[in-house]
Amino acid sequence: VFDVERFALDDGPGIRTVVFFKGCPLKCTWCCNPESQSRSTEVAYSEKKCIRCGKCAIICPKHAIRFSGSKGYQINREQCDACGLCAEICPSKAKEIIGRYVTVREIMDDVKKDAIFYRRTGGGVTLSGGEPLIQSAFAKELLEACKSIGLSTAIETCGYASWANFEMVKAHTDLFYYDLKLMGDELHKKCTGVSNKLVLENLKKLSTVGTPIIVRVPLIPGINDSLENFRAIGSYSASLGANVREIQILPYHALGIPKYEKIGRICEVKSLGLSEERSLEQHMKIIEGYGLKAVIGGR
Ligand code: SF4
Ligand code: SF4
Repeated sequence: VFDVERFALDDGPGIRTVVFFKGCPLKCTWCCNPESQSRSTEVAYSEKKCIRCGKCAIICPKHAIRFSGSKGYQINREQCDACGLCAEICPSKAKEIIGRYVTVREIMDDVKKDAIFYRRTGGGVTLSGGEPLIQSAFAKELLEACKSIGLSTAIETCGYASWANFEMVKAHTDLFYYDLKLMGDELHKKCTGVSNKLVLENLKKLSTVGTPIIVRVPLIPGINDSLENFRAIGSYSASLGANVREIQILPYHALGIPKYEKIGRICEVKSLGLSEERSLEQHMKIIEGYGLKAVIGGR
């Protein structure tokens, strides 16, 4: 996992703990959590936090850290094996390890700390990512542990997983958040790296299971915000029956862009600007036109 967030309010009913799984089969060009994409642990470096003490360069067994003038103590990613020693010694947290191995019991110890808040607000635990279903055995065990103490459970998925992985978790999940990004397959491949066929197929199958599904559409200006794409999303979702009744439109934000540099990557998509309200209304009307509830933002 790369994060466990307590007191989350946007990822399901009530107050929730969100467990962010590391690793995703999609590589969306606009991704605001690039640290979620790789399944491996990674080292992040924040030049702004660095106090130039040089300790990381001395301790690195791979000699992967060099002083680079105004860029501070940069990491040669080809030499680094993410051992984490630089992060351990760094006094200012300028170097940090992203991703850790956890057991179900460790996560549950954290989850149980907020039991009183879940009970009072109807909250619980949401598995997010990255993509929880690429670690479906762990996801299943975690969901079972949550259900065994009466907690509500939700999964946020990009939908790109084998149906067998969905089958492992579906009986233990109270709510699915299901991403639909682009209905045109060619553009989907170009912008996410994979075809949308499996995503659409799984959504269709999942809609017959009986668990409520909220479809989530990130609204990315210039990429998937065409009215045609929204008509196709509305029409497909409406055809799936009573378990899919709500679509959440998530306006793009550029907060993830600085994260790319921290993990030694280049963001392909620069700032796209915020979605305009007028445009959001148009998109909502299209969705509502198909008899679906349209909501801006998560919850
Ligand atoms: S994680 Fe280990 S190998 Fe990588 S830069 Fe830090 S100390 Fe060096
Ligand atoms: S140990 Fe931390 S603060 Fe010191 S040079 Fe390295 S990154 Fe900067």
